[in-house]
Amino acid sequence: MKSDIQIAREAEKQPIAEIAAKLGLTPAEILPYGHDKAKISHDALAALEGRPDGRLVLVTAINPTPAGEGKTTTTVGLGDALNRIGKRATICIREASLGPNFGMKGGAAGGGMAQIVPMEDMNLHFTGDFHAVTSAHNLLAALIDNHIHWGNALDIDMRRIAWRRVVDMNDRALREVVLGLGGAANGFVRQSGFDITVASEVMAILCLARDLADLQERLGRIVVAYARDGQPVTARDLKADGAMTVLLRDALQPNLVQTLENNPALVHGGPFANIAHGCNSAIATRAALRLSDYVVTEAGFGADLGAEKFLDIKCRIAGLTPSAVVLVATVRALKMNGGTARADLGQEDVDALRRGCANLGRHIANMRQYGLPVVVAINHFASDSEAEIAALTDYCGERGVRAVLARHWAEGGAGAEELAQEVVALAEGGRADFQPLYPDDMPLFGKIETISRRIYHAAHVEPAPGIREQLAAWEAAGHGALPVCIAKTQYSFSTDPNLRGAPEGHVVPVREVRLAAGAGFVVAICGQIMTMPGLPRHPAAESIGLNDLGQVEGLF
Ligand code: ADP
Ligand code: MG
Repeated sequence: MKSDIQIAREAEKQPIAEIAAKLGLTPAEILPYGHDKAKISHDALAALEGRPDGRLVLVTAINPTPAGEGKTTTTVGLGDALNRIGKRATICIREASLGPNFGMKGGAAGGGMAQIVPMEDMNLHFTGDFHAVTSAHNLLAALIDNHIHWGNALDIDMRRIAWRRVVDMNDRALREVVLGLGGAANGFVRQSGFDITVASEVMAILCLARDLADLQERLGRIVVAYARDGQPVTARDLKADGAMTVLLRDALQPNLVQTLENNPALVHGGPFANIAHGCNSAIATRAALRLSDYVVTEAGFGADLGAEKFLDIKCRIAGLTPSAVVLVATVRALKMNGGTARADLGQEDVDALRRGCANLGRHIANMRQYGLPVVVAINHFASDSEAEIAALTDYCGERGVRAVLARHWAEGGAGAEELAQEVVALAEGGRADFQPLYPDDMPLFGKIETISRRIYHAAHVEPAPGIREQLAAWEAAGHGALPVCIAKTQYSFSTDPNLRGAPEGHVVPVREVRLAAGAGFVVAICGQIMTMPGLPRHPAAESIGLNDLGQVEGLF
């Protein structure tokens, strides 16, 4: 099998206007970025208002392991397969962050014969959206320090500035910095730091905003600091929202690209999947729903983090109603959940697989709590044995769920046709009755408890001192109806990354809570969450370069 990049380079791409035409978009409705990328214009988006929606299918997975699950690969393969069986399907996924690309090898555009192209662009600067987010975020940061420099009329408490700076790079040296050194001309000295761009609230806002007006409204609501009398200071107080919206105007338009099989894909937005909701933009998903029969989208990490946030945050805020859930599982990852060491994954071990299935079973039951029909996609790896696949299929059958073997990585859309048929049967079978896990009017702490009990199967939640009071204060200030966004490890249902399988009765410690008033959620931090990653000892950057043909080598 060729490498991902070899396959991507050999793709027979169609001009982007032809891909747009498949969605019924005219050349005037797209803004081409070269020959193989385009944005869908704000005017075209506005013209879609009122059109009926197609069906929304969520692709999520068991808890991730180093063995790899293949959510994006399956999202792309399923989208291609739906097109093959006669449905007009569009794929919606996130853009890639630049930072991790230079650390660990591995792209974000799928793999094998199920990829989105041009994948080098998608994994690098693409259409500049992340630069726009970085600029808008840092403009707000500059305005805060500038406001203080010129007299601090809002009486901002310099010890309580929540807004840091961002850069789209893994750079641990920037985690904690001292600003304003060098004398009076450089402002006031204070401690701050950098996060990676995808952790910015501006990114979360871009991904939840309905249109430009809503974008500006949400940007204005960002709480950047507290005044000395304890009152919140917002971006609107600093008159930052207008200029930030200007910087983000183009970035809010979804990016259209294509799969290896020339089907449309909207690649747009990329919020973190722990301190933010981790899915592609609501604006892209909405547009795709109005332009297609089916939209296949992915939610980051395992279903306990990614799908829960997709369903309770994105669908709630954007008013989306999914029709079916595809849970991706691999024999390898389930064996790891059952205790097999990574080095032994190539050998058959039906017992370990059966033990690991507890993790899958928990996710199946969880997704059903939302009133959604589920199919398990077995993302086939060459090392899977017949006996292992049979054991996995039986396990799902006992739970009333079909497990469908999918070979899209090796065969493209043709390898996932059976999966596509099952998705259509579920989505069109009238079985979906979606409701989020908790109502808007449940108290904030109750929302954290509900997710912890019903999704993580924890015994109880243990808040650090002051957290209940902080949540109560936000409720009093009118933020009580917001959903909560739990930041915890992706490797386990618990907050202990080493506890695989389906742990019960654990405790969820809430260390800190943060208000994302612009994005529209309250973040509960449970465990150590890194918002500025570092690079490994031997970063991928060391082996990245251009070859004699001017092509990128070493990135994937
Ligand atoms: P996720 O979205 O779950 O993080 P991806 O779809 O990005 O995972 O896949 C991660 C990596 O695993 C990619 O490099 C992809 O090529 C590889 N991969 C996915 N499915 C398979 C498969 N069936 N066989 C071999 N490699 C695969
Ligand atoms: Mg992915």
